[in-house]
Order: sequence, then structure tokens, then C-alpha cells
Amino acid sequence: MHLGFYINNSLGEVTKTCTEDEIAKILQIHSMNISIYFVITFSAVAVFLGSKIILNKIRRNNAQLTVIIIGAGPIGLTSALISVHCKRVKKLVLYEEQSKSNVEKRTYQIALKSAQVSFLRSYGVDFDNLEGLWHEGCFYTRVGIYLEYIIHILPLYSKEITMHFGTKFAREMRDDIDNIQGRKLVICCDGSTGLASHTLGLSDECVIHSSGIFGAVAAVERNNETLVPRPEKRIHNLSFDLSAYISSAFEENGNSKFTLKLFGNSRCRYMALAVNKCDSNIVRALKTVLDKSMMRNIFLKCYNIYKRSDETCISDSYCLNNMKFSPRLYEIKLSQRMENVGYISDCDLFVITEGEASRSYNYNTGMDINLGVKGLSSLQPFIEMVTLAETEHSIMQALVFKMEHSEKICRESLKYGLKEYLLL
Ligand SMILES: Cc1cc2nc3c(=O)[nH]c(=O)nc-3n(C[C@H](O)[C@H](O)[C@H](O)COP(=O)(O)OP(=O)(O)OC[C@H]3O[C@@H](n4cnc5c(N)ncnc54)[C@H](O)[C@@H]3O)c2cc1C
Repeated sequence: MHLGFYINNSLGEVTKTCTEDEIAKILQIHSMNISIYFVITFSAVAVFLGSKIILNKIRRNNAQLTVIIIGAGPIGLTSALISVHCKRVKKLVLYEEQSKSNVEKRTYQIALKSAQVSFLRSYGVDFDNLEGLWHEGCFYTRVGIYLEYIIHILPLYSKEITMHFGTKFAREMRDDIDNIQGRKLVICCDGSTGLASHTLGLSDECVIHSSGIFGAVAAVERNNETLVPRPEKRIHNLSFDLSAYISSAFEENGNSKFTLKLFGNSRCRYMALAVNKCDSNIVRALKTVLDKSMMRNIFLKCYNIYKRSDETCISDSYCLNNMKFSPRLYEIKLSQRMENVGYISDCDLFVITEGEASRSYNYNTGMDINLGVKGLSSLQPFIEMVTLAETEHSIMQALVFKMEHSEKICRESLKYGLKEYLLL
């Protein structure tokens, strides 16, 4: 039987009729061609995707960053330590206005809470080899000891590290940064009065948050004393008799119970007085009365009553000449830099602020360093994001990540920080 199957030429004319076998053969060849076509296309796509993945992996593995730190205070040097732990960071440059010996000689005491101790341990800080004092999970040491320790261990990491001590970062030095090849991250840790981030294009504007707490601070410095770390001491539920200063109209009408905190090393002792915001007569009096002696006497009496037993009392005349103190109660406020991250595409440069350059209280809690260290908990993931960010979207994602973390730190500090550092 002849099976009607026609093969047409381009004009539509029948040129040939085929047998069943011929048709089967044609179909077989056709399906083979289709399979070969699919195999070739699939292989090409697989090779393309495979090489793209491999190239991306190589590029990601090789992506590197130069970190520039401005300020060698506790936060600047801790940022340096975190940076050298990041495999992405190939080069680290540090600028510090003061000489290395002046940095290492800084005398004030820092108190690291246990959470921050654990965090720093994870970056290799060996607290067993740091001179200091442990008390209720906190580590107390002279800040210079901590700074010297970090300066000493940084070169142990196999990175290219350059530390410029005695070099103030100023506008003229912008070119030095711009001229560094590749992607760069500048971490401005130049303290609450620092100008570095402004020089690099971030706004100076700050938001001022009220903490809901009133406070006053005092400092007694005795230069004949040695610098021995001391644990803090908190005294709760204090009330003061101000009848010697103010009329009976100012007698207490509210439940204003003060907390007093004594801290600092044996040479420089600080007192921080705090009370939850309220409108009691005593708080109103301590906020408004112009007679400075009232606050001086409160601090003098507090010191002599609550000082450590191995400390000598301070006399009226010593207090008059040597005690520095806030003349009245004021509202404790947190100042937060509004723009704390930025990216300058022309020179592929990220800028962030950390520590007191980013947020600071108008008060000394004796534990302020912890707030700065908390801010650094997002530094390592941020460095990873910044190094790998390629598109506008991923650059934005990195900036938003850091910004949100900074917001969170401020929110939490206002909610819990001062209570934890002062009132509880
Ligand atoms: C008197 C005093 C007492 C303190 N007491 C306590 C305490 O009891 N407990 C506690 O936990 N913390 C205490 N602190 C710590 C403090 O409150 C902060 O936590 C800490 O100093 C913040 O660190 P930082 O690195 O952000 O800033 P800073 O320590 O202010 O460091 C900023 C660094 O930047 C440098 N710098 C500034 N501008 C430039 C520039 N343009 N170029 C190069 N370098 C620059 C400065 O020289 C400085 O070294 C005390 C601080 C002081 C000053």
C-alpha cells in the first residue's frame, strides 16, 4: 500500500511522495536532530551558568576592602581589631591626633559589662592577660591599658597595617583616602566633638532624645593617689534634706528617690546622681536653685558617707577647691547623629560613624564604653556586605542595615541602658 505523504518544495509543488519506511527514517533523523539541538543548547547554558557561578565565587572570594579608622580611642581601636578579623579586609590605616604614648597613658577607668566582655573575647581580647579588676561580671581597667593591649596585638594579624599617631585627620587628607585603590570604608571614631565624618560629607545634624532621667555628676581627683581600678558602688532610695537652703514651701511632696553611683579608679572618683524625671519639690529645687553650694554639699556628704572604707574623707576646703560638679540637676539626653552612614560613588568610599562620634550622653554613667562597643556588633557583617555590594540595590541594603542597627542601639539604650548602668 502506498501511504500518501508528500514532500513539498518551496513553491508548494509536490516533488516527491514517500514510502512508510522513508517517512520513519525522516522522522528518526528529525528527532535525532532535535535531541542534538537540545543537548547542545542545554550544555551551552550549563557551561555559561557554571562559569558564571565559578567566576562569581572567585570574585566574591577575592573581593577585598581597605579600612581607614579615624581616632584611636577605645572604639576606634576596637573597630581596628574587628576589622583585622575580617578576611575581606586586606589593609588597615589608622589616624590618631595624639601620640601613641599619650594614648597609652590615658588614665580614666572603663567598665566593661559581661556581654561586651564576651563580645570582645570573641575577637581575641585575652582578659586574663589584661591588668584589671573583676566585680559582679564586669571588668574594670584603666583605658590606656586596654588601648595599649590592642595596639600591641594588631600587628599579630597578617594584614597590611599602618598606624599614623600624632596625625590629625583633616580636609587636606581626603585625597590620601581617595587615592587608595579599590573599595574603602572609613570608620569615624573621633569622639563626640569629632569632625571627620563632616569632612567626609556626612551631615553634622543630631537628634536629641530625652532619657526621662535627671542627673548630676561630680569628680574628685587626688593626684597623690595611685591608679588602681575600683569597682562601682550604687546606693538607692536616697532623699535629701534641703531645709537649710530652701523655705518650707520646697518641702518634699513627691516620691523622688535618688540613686547615687560612685565609680572611677582610686585617683579619680566620680559620683553620678540620678532620679526618674518627676516634678517633686526637691527635684524642682535642685533643677532651678542658683546657689551652687547646695549641690556641692550634697556631693560632699554623699562622698564622705558612701566612699569605700579605705578612702579618706574629703574636707570642706578640699571640696571647695578641687571638686568639679554639675551646679544643678539637668535632664540626661542622648545625642544621636542623624546621618551615620554614607557612600561616595566617585571614589567607591563608604563612611560610617561609631562610638561617641555616633551617639553620646550629656552625662557620665561610668559604663559609657559599653554603648560604643554595642554599636560595633554589626561591624563585621557590615564589612562583608560592603565588600560584596555591587549593585545600587546591594549598596543601599548595606547602608540601611547599618543605619537600622544604629537606630536600634539608641532605642534600646534609652529604654534599658541608663536603667541598667545607673538606676537598677
Ligand atoms: C574623663 C573621662 C572619664 C570616663 N569615664 C568612664 C568610665 O568611668 N567608664 C566607662 O565605661 N567609660 C568612661 N569614659 C569613656 C567614654 O565615656 C567613652 O565611652 C569613650 O571614650 C568613647 O570612646 P570613643 O573611642 O568613641 O571616643 P574617644 O575616647 O573620645 O576617642 C576619640 C579619639 O579620636 C581622636 N581624634 C579626634 N579627632 C581626630 C582627628 N581629626 N584625627 C585623628 N584623631 C582624632 C582623639 O584624640 C581620641 O583619641 C570616660 C571618658 C572620659 C574622657
